[in-house]
Amino acid sequence: MGIDTKQAWQTALANVIKDPEELLAQLGLSHKLTAIDGDMLKKFPLRVPQSYINKMRHGDAHDPLLRQVFPLIDEALTVDNFVTDPVGDSLAITAPGLLQKYHGRALLVTTGACAIHCRYCFRRHFPYGDSNPLASQWLETLSTLRNDLTINEVILSGGDPLVLTDSKLAAMVADLETIPHLKRLRIHTRLPIVLPERIDQHLLKWIESTRLQIIMVVHANHANEIDNEVAIALNDLQLAGCQLLNQAVLLKGINDYEESLVKLSERLSDVNVMPYYLHLLDPVAGASHFDVPDQIGIELINSIRKKLPGYLVPRLVREQQGQASKTIIS
Ligand code: SF4
Repeated sequence: MGIDTKQAWQTALANVIKDPEELLAQLGLSHKLTAIDGDMLKKFPLRVPQSYINKMRHGDAHDPLLRQVFPLIDEALTVDNFVTDPVGDSLAITAPGLLQKYHGRALLVTTGACAIHCRYCFRRHFPYGDSNPLASQWLETLSTLRNDLTINEVILSGGDPLVLTDSKLAAMVADLETIPHLKRLRIHTRLPIVLPERIDQHLLKWIESTRLQIIMVVHANHANEIDNEVAIALNDLQLAGCQLLNQAVLLKGINDYEESLVKLSERLSDVNVMPYYLHLLDPVAGASHFDVPDQIGIELINSIRKKLPGYLVPRLVREQQGQASKTIIS
C-alpha cells in the first residue's frame, strides 16, 4: 500500500485531538477543568480520537469518557505508593520487548503508541524506547519464544498493537506462526472501542487467515463507549473468528457505582463480549485520583451479582508483582 492510499483509520489516528483546551472547547467546557501542563503534559500528552469525543456529553464536565482522557491537574499530586512501575514490568523483561510473568504465556510489547491516552494507564511511564522488539532485536525475541516449549500463547500488547500497520502485524504474526508450540494469539487492544474505524477489511482478512486462535481482549470501562459503530466493529471481529473478552478498570467518578457496572455488563452482553476482568487500579504515579478502595470494589461486585447472571459478572482482580497469576479479589 502506497502513502497515497492511507486507510481511513490511519487518517483518524493522525487527527487525534492533543490540546486540552480544544477538547474542552468542543464540549462547551472552556476553562471549566484545569489540565496539567509543561513537562508533565509533554511526558504523557492528551490523545483522543474524534469519534470518541463525539460520544461525550456536551457541557458535562463529569462525563465518564471525558474523565478517562482529560489530564486533570490532580495528576500533579504526589501520593505514597503510587509509583512509575506499579506491576513490576521492568523485572519481567526476558528479551527485548518480551515480558514473562505467568506460566505458558509471554507478552510482547509491540509498540509504545496508542490511539488514546487513558490517564490511569499502568504503563504511562513505561520506557518503550528500550523495549521495542519490532526493531533490530526481533530475531532474538523470536528465538527466546522458539526455545521455550512451555509457551503456547503470545499476548500482543503495548501501547496498542492495533496501531501497527496491517503489513507489520501480518509479518510479525507470520513469524510467530512458524513456532509450532504456539497455539493462541491474544491481542490486548482498546482500538475497537476508541477507534472502530481500525476494524476494516484489511485487518479482518489477516485475522481470518492465521492458523493461531485469536482471543481479543478489548477495554471498555463504561457503557457509553459502546455505540453502534463499535458494535459493528465487534461483530465483524467475531465473524472473522475472534473470541472477544473485555477488561475494565474500576475508576473513581467513572464506573464506581452499581448502575454503571450493570449497564456496562449488559451492553457488553448485547454485543457478545464477555466481561472478563474488572481491575482494581494499579497504583501508578499520576492516577491516584481514580483510586477506589478494595472494600468498595468487593461490595460493588457483591451487589452487581444480585442484578446479573453469573457469566456477566467480571472477576475483580489485582495484579501483584511476583505472583504466579492475577490475584482474584472477588
Ligand atoms: S490504550 Fe491501553 S496501553 Fe494505551 S493508554 Fe490506554 S490503557 Fe494504556
